[in-house]
Amino acid sequence: HNHIDHATLEKVHAAIAADETHAHVPDYQDLNAYLKTGGYSALTQLRANGNWEDVQGQVLASGLRGLGGAGFPSGKKWGFVRANPGPRYLAVNGDEGEPGTFKDRFYLERVPHLFLEGMLIAAWAVEAKTCFIYMRDEYPAVLEILRREIAALEATGMVAPGYIDLRRGAGAYICGEESAMIESFEGKRGMPRHRPPFVAQVGIFNRPTLVHNVETLYWVARVCREGPECLNSTEKNGRKGLRSYSVSGRVAAPGVYLLPAGSTITDIIEAAGGMAEGHSFKAYQPGGPSSGILPASINDVPLDFDTLQPLGSFIGSAAVVVLSDKDSARDAALNMLRFFEDESCGQCTPCRVGCEKAVKLMQADHWNQPLLEELCTAMADASICGLGQAAPNPIRLTMKHFPDEV
Ligand code: SF4
Repeated sequence: HNHIDHATLEKVHAAIAADETHAHVPDYQDLNAYLKTGGYSALTQLRANGNWEDVQGQVLASGLRGLGGAGFPSGKKWGFVRANPGPRYLAVNGDEGEPGTFKDRFYLERVPHLFLEGMLIAAWAVEAKTCFIYMRDEYPAVLEILRREIAALEATGMVAPGYIDLRRGAGAYICGEESAMIESFEGKRGMPRHRPPFVAQVGIFNRPTLVHNVETLYWVARVCREGPECLNSTEKNGRKGLRSYSVSGRVAAPGVYLLPAGSTITDIIEAAGGMAEGHSFKAYQPGGPSSGILPASINDVPLDFDTLQPLGSFIGSAAVVVLSDKDSARDAALNMLRFFEDESCGQCTPCRVGCEKAVKLMQADHWNQPLLEELCTAMADASICGLGQAAPNPIRLTMKHFPDEV
């Protein structure tokens, strides 16, 4: 309802574009420093005489998996994309909009070139014509770092001008969903697409597109530089590999912690300095709001793809939020559903209307549990994308584990 005329908008855009200093840019490893550590030699060697299948083999051997929820082996995607004729594109999902997630920012503000080299290696592997980066606009420092460092890379001739196309997101959570992100890249409203076809076949501008998260590409570079052992030599609770957990909430030292992939919530809280003073552990969100809330009693399962699925949850982006005796699980669940209500793209009824109804039902003193359960089934079964499909998780898990509160 607030009408802004075109001329005003132009002025605002010009002011933003002219102000390059608004971001507080932290100290980070720039191109020169990265080159001194042997940076980009992996890429240069591969471009000169590398075999993409060898690199794919290394990535598969490392056990690297995407953290979108399904845990798809990262190397496998390359084969799917390559199976389709070019031109092909690479798209980087740097939207990091999942509440509680800040690991991509952590890496980008420190070692941006590990990400950029990983991206260029993956682009080389699938012979991508252009690399599109979808970067969260709420990370001004990251955007500034990427602008500077992409320009530096272009100046060395390692990438042609325009080969890396840096785009700013506009704060829509749904644009972190890969097909909505692709719509947004194309200049359209970010709404998830029906699948199939998958983006590996029909992605940006209908071309086969490899989509990776920022952290995945960071690891691709490390695997190429250090070998698959940098990931697969760690083993815990029968699981290989490492995972970057974004830990927040009632812990003494919130932050990003790189821990074995087989870690339990007990290990994670311990790594984050234990519980904050005066708080005792009550519940946790294991991987973003879509993963719902689990009680403190489930404290000995490794937080992994296969272990959380049967519990009605999932690891998602490994955004762990710890709740204490001072928090209400019911309020946390309501907060999550309010978030989904706000962020639903509105394309399909089970999600658009379902989230709104769920919020209303959850505001009642006593939850109408049979009705909520019916609503959850409709949302999970009939929503187009993961947002609506997973939105019932916090509701169901709260009814199951915190019946006294609802
Ligand atoms: Fe949009 Fe929700 Fe439907 Fe996903 S589930 S397409 S966010 S309305």
